[in-house]
Amino acid sequence: MTELWVKNACVIDPLRGINGEIMDIAIRDGRIVESVSDRADVIDAQRCLTLPGGIDSHTHVSGTKVNFGRYMSPEDMRAGRTKRKGKMHVTSGYYVPTTFGNSYRYSAMGYTTLLEGAMAPLEARHTHEEFTATPHQDMMANTLFDGNWAVMDAVREKDVRKTAAVVAWTLKAARGYGIKLTNPGGTEAWGFGEDLTGIHEMVPHFAVSPAEIITTMIRANELLKLPHSVHLHCNNLGKPGNYQTTLETFDIVPDLNPDRQTLYATHVQFHAYGGGTWKNISSKAEEITRSINSKPQIVMDMGQIMFGRTMTMTADGPMEFNLHCLHHNKWSNHDVELETGSGIIPVTYSKKSAVNCIMWAIGLELALLTKNPYQCLLETDNPNGAPFVKYPEIIGLLMSKRYRDEECATLANGVEQRTSLCALERELDWHDIAVMTRAGQAKALGIVNQGKGHLGIGAEADIAIYPIRTDSVDPAREYRKVVEGFQKTRYTIKRGRVVSRDGDIIVDGANATFWVDAMVPEDLKMENDPEFIKRFEQFYTVRMSNYPVQDVYLPRGRRIETEVFT
Ligand SMILES: [Zn+2]
Repeated sequence: MTELWVKNACVIDPLRGINGEIMDIAIRDGRIVESVSDRADVIDAQRCLTLPGGIDSHTHVSGTKVNFGRYMSPEDMRAGRTKRKGKMHVTSGYYVPTTFGNSYRYSAMGYTTLLEGAMAPLEARHTHEEFTATPHQDMMANTLFDGNWAVMDAVREKDVRKTAAVVAWTLKAARGYGIKLTNPGGTEAWGFGEDLTGIHEMVPHFAVSPAEIITTMIRANELLKLPHSVHLHCNNLGKPGNYQTTLETFDIVPDLNPDRQTLYATHVQFHAYGGGTWKNISSKAEEITRSINSKPQIVMDMGQIMFGRTMTMTADGPMEFNLHCLHHNKWSNHDVELETGSGIIPVTYSKKSAVNCIMWAIGLELALLTKNPYQCLLETDNPNGAPFVKYPEIIGLLMSKRYRDEECATLANGVEQRTSLCALERELDWHDIAVMTRAGQAKALGIVNQGKGHLGIGAEADIAIYPIRTDSVDPAREYRKVVEGFQKTRYTIKRGRVVSRDGDIIVDGANATFWVDAMVPEDLKMENDPEFIKRFEQFYTVRMSNYPVQDVYLPRGRRIETEVFT
């Protein structure tokens, strides 16, 4: 039995309605309990800001795509190097670090749970191997279905039950957590050198539209009672004028679940552009947030960009080709048979580029114009918009108008005319930030009842204690203290153990991987469906029996079983 007593903590725990109370937290065997014995280890939090462990609901840290980003950037491997120190392995890389680099830096910032944004089922083993080597965070993987042939066949037949059955079989085979749609239909079209430019256009050879894929998958997701909703990267990412596609997409989302959103729209900054060319691009954050503010069934995340060099990587192959044509930089393009694809290119976001400055402003506008912080979560689509180590700066910008004004003064011309950022007075508070970095994520991902995102009795004891005294720091003026404070926790506690202290990892980690085993009625089991088996053996280059990820790849798998539907 291990016991820990955290005393004098200034707790913000939005899911339990606690906002800045000084309290003690008792922990036994990794969970929060009412009280502990007098033999418990004691940490004095000294009235510092104490939050549930951070949760990143959309990041790219593991799998073939991320690893290819590492291959493509030997120059980055020379950056961010740290030597072996105590329990810490050597790390390297800045925007695509090694798995240990990712894990240590997230842990130093108080993050204890991560969702990998895009796992191709066929390549799932690699993702799980890297999860095992990301020791200080619990992991889960959104599973790509945007160009899945069996899904598109079922969608064309307007068969929600069959669609659900294919999803259930594939999630189990890949040990995946939820449904990810990246440029639905467009990634499949890209296999034929094409893309889709509207949600009612037809996918070549499949006679289904992105709108049909999205709405059928939403219904299948809810039929299966998956913990998370459909997680969507909309069509037309990164194109001037694309906000109309985004709004059209939001308009077809039904409100189907009283406990959480029905659609999670990711990196919406990249989908909120007005104008028609790069010369007249403008912010449509006001239009996007007006839609979000009236639709409780949608949650989005920011997709904030920050200035500097990074690597973009996405299953959206055609988008990366367009970006390559713009930058003429090195580029990788990858097809995953029958499922999806990907593209990777390095980029540098520059304050000298008016387009980049507008993108930077849009992410912040989205967060400041969304009324309910549970509907706009903080992330950068790491590493696409910026490496996650920039999160503290984003928090600083959201909490301080003065900081934003100082930054705006250093930007290329055009930001003031083509965005509303400079006119926004709103400054988020500590509670808003706690929602946007943990409570909101836990709710959106459906992991609150797995003990994540809050500090209630029975919750997993994932806790971040920051060296910030909220009673003496004024974030609007002293934003540098805020940024510094969120860069390194005093203590990060993972499942009841102090794993990092003042930025250093002090123990070997042992994470868990959450995956969903969705139950379907006997007559819908794909492993018994002769047509599914026939097409699988006909078109895949792997045998159906070799496809599922073996349990040995998940040494600490946590299976979440859903209720069977009728
Ligand atoms: Zn992403």
